[in-house]
Amino acid sequence: MKKFTNAVIYGQNGANEILIENGVIRSIGKNLGSADETIDLGGKLVIAPYVDPHLHLDYVYTLSEFEKTGAGSGTLFEAIEMWPKFKENLTIEGAKRRAIKAIKDEVSQGVQYIRTHIDVTDPNFTALKAMLELRDELKDIVDIQIVAFPQEGMYTYKGGRDLVEEALRMGADAVGGIPHYEPAREFGEKSIHDIVELAVKYDKVIDVHCDETDDPHSRFVELLNALVLMEDYGIRTTASHTCSFGSADDSYAYRMMDLFKKSKLNFIACPTENAYLQGRHDTYPKRRGLTRVKEFMESGINIAFAQDSINDPWYPMGNGNMMNILDNGIHLAQIMSPGEIEKDLDLITYNGARCLHIQDRYGLEEGKDANFIVLDGDSPFDVIRNRAGVLASIRKGEYLFKQKPIEYDVELDLGVAY
Ligand SMILES: [Zn+2]
Repeated sequence: MKKFTNAVIYGQNGANEILIENGVIRSIGKNLGSADETIDLGGKLVIAPYVDPHLHLDYVYTLSEFEKTGAGSGTLFEAIEMWPKFKENLTIEGAKRRAIKAIKDEVSQGVQYIRTHIDVTDPNFTALKAMLELRDELKDIVDIQIVAFPQEGMYTYKGGRDLVEEALRMGADAVGGIPHYEPAREFGEKSIHDIVELAVKYDKVIDVHCDETDDPHSRFVELLNALVLMEDYGIRTTASHTCSFGSADDSYAYRMMDLFKKSKLNFIACPTENAYLQGRHDTYPKRRGLTRVKEFMESGINIAFAQDSINDPWYPMGNGNMMNILDNGIHLAQIMSPGEIEKDLDLITYNGARCLHIQDRYGLEEGKDANFIVLDGDSPFDVIRNRAGVLASIRKGEYLFKQKPIEYDVELDLGVAY
């Protein structure tokens, strides 16, 4: 039996100890008695591990490795056009090496759960094969969910739909899609029907790149929501991006939000990525590229934040730091009132777990895996305001890593008493 003591435990009023047996949380509370080993956490905040629910692990670091002529102008559709040239050069070894680097970026900063979209519009399935291997090889340090994602379209790419189906047979966990990239609305809608049908047929979850455009006429989320509402599949379905919903008319948006509540559809926003990619055809005012995060939170609609890209043709930056994503997101979405701050950490933890549909085994609760992280602060407000780093990540009761808070050789001395 192992005990972590002297902690501030997120969402557990007044509890300061976690007792662990065989990698599982036995209890959370106060004065939990003696243990074989007791670890003092120095009054720091303990939360459930970060979840990055939307990341392209087959694209990471390809910008630096493959692009010798300099990045393009930085629009979403230009990046999609660039990608096939990169794809020609993929090998399983190279894909694994770059993905491992990015996984290390994320896990070393507190992430323990990743959902990755893998491009399957490739008859060789090079990236998918690499990722299926990694999902298994790294399962003790990180949970990876793989989305069969047709980057070049189910119909724009000839045979794309069938490649998605084959990827599901090969072991992908989720069905993806990109309806706004199909060549006409009719084909986008057809792809949404395919996605839901494939998910039901193979008993998979759904995560669609949906309406990642400023065009308010891109409304594929409406059809996706309707179909999963009718199939009672909403809690297993996520609409990623939905940028256009940020440009939608209010009367349409509020009607839709009522329907999202009924279906229990989940949403993911990628604040840094879409702030960079969207609004490119606007002069001024310039849109933020973000869906209605604040209104979703107020309505009880599940919304999570994600990294999306690390140094790929879509986005040159990115380092797997979920606190950076949260910081950008709460600025862009304007969610910093005292009541909102108390829930903001959920955007990179519990809400992402709901998108991954792992809420039954994720979180700081008795009987669940003893997975958690220790942040360098003592309250949600404190860690968010300071963009606090992760001092330790614990998985099944054992340290994945542990580091000290900053220590100075020479400390700042203001020379005045106050
Ligand atoms: Zn994406």
